[in-house]
Amino acid sequence: MLTIKALNKTYANGVQALKDVNLEIPTGLYGLLGPNGAGKSSLMRTIATLQEPDSGSIQFDGIDVLQDKEGLRRQLGYLPQDFGVYPKVSAEDLLNHFAVLKGLTRRTERKEMVDGLLRQTNLWDARKRKLGTFSGGMRQRFGIAQALLGAPKLVIVDEPTAGLDPDERNRFLNLLSEIGEQVVVMLSTHIVEDVTDLCPRMAMIVKGEVLLQGEPQAAIDMLKDKVWRKRVSKASLPDYQQRFNVLSSRLVAGQPQINVHADSQPDDGFVQVEPDLEDVYFLKIHSRQAGIAAVA
Ligand code: ADP
Repeated sequence: MLTIKALNKTYANGVQALKDVNLEIPTGLYGLLGPNGAGKSSLMRTIATLQEPDSGSIQFDGIDVLQDKEGLRRQLGYLPQDFGVYPKVSAEDLLNHFAVLKGLTRRTERKEMVDGLLRQTNLWDARKRKLGTFSGGMRQRFGIAQALLGAPKLVIVDEPTAGLDPDERNRFLNLLSEIGEQVVVMLSTHIVEDVTDLCPRMAMIVKGEVLLQGEPQAAIDMLKDKVWRKRVSKASLPDYQQRFNVLSSRLVAGQPQINVHADSQPDDGFVQVEPDLEDVYFLKIHSRQAGIAAVA
């Protein structure tokens, strides 16, 4: 279990990136969902002991993370957002090199781990290929392989699905989910679907504040019977946005389709729809922006 208490961080430029963040993160895949600039990377870098908070505490498996950085690092696998690889080196050679750096000095043990990780991340057949020839998804899977060297108990992956096509994204998330059967895997993303299906638990973070945490389905259930949908004309859209709590609007065959949050049918032509996590996400973001207390 990873426990974060009252974590605060303000950068030198005055941006308050973390505001009294409190989270309880159990074993399994944990989704940290928020728009760009929400503070996800700041939180992850702080947990990974790459930067200091101004105040607060982090505990992992009996380790006081801010006091015992080395202790945490021995348990940590980290895939940063801007993970770069050496394009001219093969996957196998670079993973082996990282393994040496990680302190896996015994040759047989190291080979066993490197081979095992190449298989687990489905890169075995591509292991002799230069990393520069890898697709985005393969590169991210390689990033996970290096993060898993030394069998970490805490795995942190920062926005790993950005830029992956849907197939690669699925494969990658399934891999994370499998890893989460054994250890704590913390995944940050701005893509709602990354969290909906595979994360048993999640938190939404906006402007450094945790707006919601728990099970995605429980959050969705709070909006039951409260999401209404209608297709409207482009010209009338601003009027709807003014009169109703429009959660989202998307073009369907060139015409806006809006989701509205309301206790009863807002107007003629609205039909009730099953809420999803995206509705919750937009409700939270809008409530935060409007400065009103969140409803759900
Ligand atoms: P996310 O990962 O959710 O996109 P970040 O943690 O990267 O969010 O950023 C949160 C906020 O802190 C943003 O407003 C960002 O511009 C700011 N920020 C991030 N890193 C720094 C830094 N080193 N110095 C100053 N401001 C920063």
